[in-house]
Amino acid sequence: MSQKVLYTYESLNITKREIINALREVGLKKGDTVLIHSDVSTFGKIGLINDRDAFLGELFDAFMDVIGKEGTVVVPTFTYSFCKNESFDVRKTKSTVGAFTEFVRKQKDAVRSEDPIFSHAGVGKKAEELLKKTGGVCFGANSFFDRFYKNGGKIINFGKFFDITFIHYIERKFGVDYRFDKFFPGKIILEEGIESSKEVTFYVRSLPEQGFNVIYDMTKLGNELERKNLLKRVNLGGSFILCSDIKDCYEVGLEMLGRDEYAFLEKNPHELIKTQSQNKIKEGVGHEMMEMIVKLFPICRSITGNGVRETLNILQKEIPIKIHEVPSGTQVFDWTVPKEWNIYDAYVIGPDGNKIIDFKENNLHVVGYSTPVNKTLSLKELQEHLHSLPGQPDAIPYITSYYKERWGFCIKHNYREKLKEGSYKVFIGSELKNGSLTYGELIIPGESKEEVFLSTYVCHPSMANDELSGPVVTTSLVKWILQKSRKYTYRIIFIPETIGSITYLNKNIEVMKKNIIAGFNISCVGDSGSFSYIPSRNGHTYADRIALNILSFKQRDFIRYSFLDKGSDERQYNAPGIDLPLCCILKSKYGTYPEYHTSLDNLDFVSSQGLSDSYEAFKECLKLIEKNKKYKIKCLGEPQLGKRGLYPTISTKSSTNEVKSMMNFISYADGTKDLIEISEIIKVPVWELYSIIKKLLKADLLSIE
Ligand code: ZN
Repeated sequence: MSQKVLYTYESLNITKREIINALREVGLKKGDTVLIHSDVSTFGKIGLINDRDAFLGELFDAFMDVIGKEGTVVVPTFTYSFCKNESFDVRKTKSTVGAFTEFVRKQKDAVRSEDPIFSHAGVGKKAEELLKKTGGVCFGANSFFDRFYKNGGKIINFGKFFDITFIHYIERKFGVDYRFDKFFPGKIILEEGIESSKEVTFYVRSLPEQGFNVIYDMTKLGNELERKNLLKRVNLGGSFILCSDIKDCYEVGLEMLGRDEYAFLEKNPHELIKTQSQNKIKEGVGHEMMEMIVKLFPICRSITGNGVRETLNILQKEIPIKIHEVPSGTQVFDWTVPKEWNIYDAYVIGPDGNKIIDFKENNLHVVGYSTPVNKTLSLKELQEHLHSLPGQPDAIPYITSYYKERWGFCIKHNYREKLKEGSYKVFIGSELKNGSLTYGELIIPGESKEEVFLSTYVCHPSMANDELSGPVVTTSLVKWILQKSRKYTYRIIFIPETIGSITYLNKNIEVMKKNIIAGFNISCVGDSGSFSYIPSRNGHTYADRIALNILSFKQRDFIRYSFLDKGSDERQYNAPGIDLPLCCILKSKYGTYPEYHTSLDNLDFVSSQGLSDSYEAFKECLKLIEKNKKYKIKCLGEPQLGKRGLYPTISTKSSTNEVKSMMNFISYADGTKDLIEISEIIKVPVWELYSIIKKLLKADLLSIE
């Protein structure tokens, strides 16, 4: 064993033998898996050493000598590539967290995780098992931290105060309110040199504009571990080495958060916030959705064609949807994907030479999927191709003819009655040819493979409630989902109605049937009318239970339709044999309001209030799906709330109500009933029970069955 002096700093010398002895003393032994956080500069400036790589090599060898062939060394090699909008090259992107980590990464047999933000590199027996093909959720299931925690091992802080990234894994498990999952799409160049798109969920901290002022105090967890004799410290040269067991870190950390959600922070992050700023964010959603409708309204959409693409491209600027194309002629169950339809202009010129119908003024004027035409006709001949509504003389009807080739114009009946005899020049500049059907899809991974499914459609021209309210509310929901830590995976699609859902089902039915636990078809959700509900065919799926619970507390007298009143994609999702657990929550249902499928379903028919009411209702449904569990009160007999600080010392009307709800909740928390059932029995909305459950869990009075 070499005894040469590795490093000289003022009067201080460290040899490799001394490092080995210190590592053994701190508790490291043969076969250990060790995660090293290092700061070699605290032993002095490495620049002073003649041969830096030789020093790092000896340091690395010291670790390997102690843990042996059966052991594994892992170091962080964080790059934050996706946060900086850079692609991440597993083989080449340099570690940004220190010379030693870069040294380990460059070892010939090193394995690196495919995490474009928090990658780790490792060498040794378990390197592959811990680092190969890690999942896309930082700090989530199947991340390096998750595998490391489950495998067991030690964390070393070498020349460094206790400061571990693993803390965020504990925070995410607990679900602290000052961090949330945020989606980062980007490019990653894999081990084999292949470039691939990857979406990574990064657990980011909330910002001041979101009402948080998050400042960490990393010494708190270290101090608590040391107090419990779970952190070993050995001096080395002028610095020191700290070592603790990963399981101890996890348990002590979780226990600290259980006592105080802000235990890792300097102070309560809400202290500085003003409640107004939160209210502002809330008001903003309705407004934002209305602006989006205004933007999408003029586009001429149909079941295929550039209108759908343009719509999806605009939505893609808001949320990371993937756009898919399915060729015309593709057989999908009993249907065939139709030819693609595009239109650039259409008009009718009357006997006096004036344009009397103009597609550019309102795209509802042309029958959807009209074949091209350019000819002169008599009024009688033209009448055969005109559509109007005698009962609604001021509305332009919305008419399509997807599966029979024809052409036509739609006009106000009042206007039609004024047409004079004479010759009319008709022109439709459309194109019907083999192309493709376009749809958008977004899968947001969660901890579980079980899925929540949202479907909405993008195939109607300029109409607001049916349909733009659907894609717009769904887009805002997606933004919200992306910011939450979530148990479930979310499958969200933007498709053309009927043929789109059939096409999508044809391709994905197996995985959908296997994984979807609840789904909603989102349509007609933007007006100020009453909430309404269409059940699934079965009527009692999990989605039905969720929707009925939320609606009954949002609006007691909401309208309940029968499955026989179905009309949108719920038909496909509930078809015999498909039978997905899916129902509909709507405002004014399609077909029930006079403005439906006419030019009167316009921007005046929807409102930011109507949109945000629907958004809030769906949000509560998704929250409930995430939080619905069976709870059991731990103590026998009624718990004494007073001694746990759960009983108010001053009674006000609101505190009395909360205590009543808490007592009633406790009465039914017997481990057999889920939250939905209890909420229904005690007649308290679930959103009032969440804070009660949190308090009871903190007081250790409740267990989750
Ligand atoms: Zn419709």
